[in-house]
Amino acid sequence: MYKEDHHSIMQSIRRFLASEVDPFVDEWEAAEIFPAHALFKKMGDLGFLGINKPTEYGGLGLDFSYAVAAGEAMGYVRAQGVSMGVGVQTDMATPALTAFGSEELKREFLVPAIAGEVVVSIGVSEQGAGSDVASLKTRARRDGDDYVISGSKMWITNGTQADWICLLCNTSDGPSHKNKSLIIVPLKDGGKQAKGIEVQKIKKFGMWCSDTAQIFFDEVRVPVRHRIGEEGMGFIYQMKQFQEERLGAAARRLAAIQLIDETANYLRQRTAFGKPLLDNQFIQFKLAELKTELEALRGLVYMATQTYINGGDVVELASMAKLKAGRYPARSPNGACSSRAAWGTPGTTRSRVPTATSGSAPSAAEPTKS
Ligand SMILES: Cc1cc2nc3c(=O)[nH]c(=O)nc-3n(C[C@H](O)[C@H](O)[C@H](O)COP(=O)(O)OP(=O)(O)OC[C@H]3O[C@@H](n4cnc5c(N)ncnc54)[C@H](O)[C@@H]3O)c2cc1C
Repeated sequence: MYKEDHHSIMQSIRRFLASEVDPFVDEWEAAEIFPAHALFKKMGDLGFLGINKPTEYGGLGLDFSYAVAAGEAMGYVRAQGVSMGVGVQTDMATPALTAFGSEELKREFLVPAIAGEVVVSIGVSEQGAGSDVASLKTRARRDGDDYVISGSKMWITNGTQADWICLLCNTSDGPSHKNKSLIIVPLKDGGKQAKGIEVQKIKKFGMWCSDTAQIFFDEVRVPVRHRIGEEGMGFIYQMKQFQEERLGAAARRLAAIQLIDETANYLRQRTAFGKPLLDNQFIQFKLAELKTELEALRGLVYMATQTYINGGDVVELASMAKLKAGRYPARSPNGACSSRAAWGTPGTTRSRVPTATSGSAPSAAEPTKS
């Protein structure tokens, strides 16, 4: 699927990560936050936050295969918390705004997000509504030309740093798939938390440097013009928005090929009973299986991407890709890293092993709606 241009973008992103991100990930992991504003500004200046966004809003105007290539390149970062935070900005919080937002809304909120002048977030999940999106309770009641929003959102990536959130909430009492709207809600006002907004940081098992928060909305007033598209269409828009999220997340997982290569290199150097561990056929079988599964995932991701670009429905293919990608790390680090644990490297410690791809602890905990 990739042509020369795709590879150029991937190389640029990987060069950027190697110089601007990887040297700092230990510090950011320990701090449980990365400096999203500073990093996103640099990425925005290089065009990395608007690869497939229209040029009139500052994007590069390329088709979605380039966004998938960029996602794959982002997967090589040494802390997946960073790639997840970036993925929220590019693939999760902005696709619906791009596709259905008014011109005014795109100028006000999309342009700065693509330029990296703001950090953004997506608010779908709630404490009592995760997989079952339709059951969410956060509500926006109409008051003249404003919506007044009350409720809360859970697991919000970039949550403590975000300037705005693309919020899915109920705007009427109708059937649960037709009573929701997506609304852009500013979270900051003059550098401080906006009136009625409270943000509480959540500590996680993995993805440490990605800040995740629960956000509370207490009678938060936003103009009705902040609504994306038609009232009552939010659930449908969000389901469409999930397609890019799923493919972006699956593309990032393809970089696990590096983990397999690095593990093979390690096993080549590590000897036991007089020969390199890699010379044991069982280990070769295991690595071959991991690589085969990853290449099968690659085929699925690229096929879904082509279908998506051609205007096809990819709900099933993208969900399958996300499912496989989400399960893959459970096999790969377990398959590969448990070998390290058993064979004498610090696979069981919290320290990052020198050959690890992700740099983060378990990375299965990604925003996911499959
Ligand atoms: C690190 C991280 C970052 C996230 N970032 C965001 C974000 O930025 N924005 C956002 O909106 N959300 C975010 N999420 C939430 C995420 O997208 C999922 O929606 C959420 O984790 C799933 O909801 P839940 O945890 O309430 O699980 P539940 O929906 O309660 O599910 C619990 C378990 O039950 C299973 N289950 C659910 N329904 C069924 C069923 N019908 N049949 C069988 N089994 C079922 C699930 O598979 C799961 O194993 C994030 C989550 C994490 C962990």
